[in-house]
Amino acid sequence: MLQKTIFEDIKLEGIGIHSGEVSKIALHPEPENTGIRFLVEGEYIPANYRYVLGTDHAILLGKGGKKVSTVEHLLAVLYMLSIDNLTIEFLRGYEVPIFDGSGYYFYKLLKDKAYSLSDEAKVLEIKEIFEVKNCKGYIKAEPAEGFCALYKGYVRGILEESLVQYCGNAKEVVFARTFCYEEEVEYLLQNGLAKGGSLKNAVVIGKGYVLNPEGMRSKDEPIRHKLLDLIGDLSLLGYRLKGRIFSYLGGHALNYQFVKSLAESSLSTTSKSSFVSTP
Ligand code: ZN
Repeated sequence: MLQKTIFEDIKLEGIGIHSGEVSKIALHPEPENTGIRFLVEGEYIPANYRYVLGTDHAILLGKGGKKVSTVEHLLAVLYMLSIDNLTIEFLRGYEVPIFDGSGYYFYKLLKDKAYSLSDEAKVLEIKEIFEVKNCKGYIKAEPAEGFCALYKGYVRGILEESLVQYCGNAKEVVFARTFCYEEEVEYLLQNGLAKGGSLKNAVVIGKGYVLNPEGMRSKDEPIRHKLLDLIGDLSLLGYRLKGRIFSYLGGHALNYQFVKSLAESSLSTTSKSSFVSTP
């Protein structure tokens, strides 16, 4: 598999779900081995776990006093489209626009824009079982022929434990919008989050019902969104993955812990296990 970028500049604009402010972004093609990176006020911030500053309801990256947030939905779509090299320049703001709360807008915009470069993609192959846990759940990686990400979770009062998976069909996950429980809204606002949140860009779940008049896009939409978040967060490895990644009740914090631990155990030169291959 060859590395990819996009063949033309793309501009987009919209509000950030947490800041509530308008962001303007330009996506620029980049050559081989640049990786995915953000450009904010003259500072390049790689889309890499090393620059993660926060995982509270979104991924916050920072470097040199500059920051970018809510990067995960765009990163998930780039990963699913195998786009490895790109600069995401902020012309205004620091938060990736939320649009409808899903990855659909990015997917629609980018799906026909990728093209192959001449170098092979960097692949991190899972060669043995690797697992991280927290008090709620766990993420487990296992060897597999290609890349598959699975998520198992539930939606309180709406959906019992369900399993969803991505094994190459982006359409099964890009439509799924971000969500929160009605009782969380007050907490989010008090903590300076979700200032741009509304029923137009998030599913809000009450006690056994959905507040959005249009309902959900699928009965397991929130679980599929958790899978979208997982894929975006996994992309912070900076490698395409070869393996099966299963998350039980993971969120941004556990995803980050998983990526960091996996990278530290497999990418370090002193490690005995050599996960990395560049076919
Ligand atoms: Zn999300």
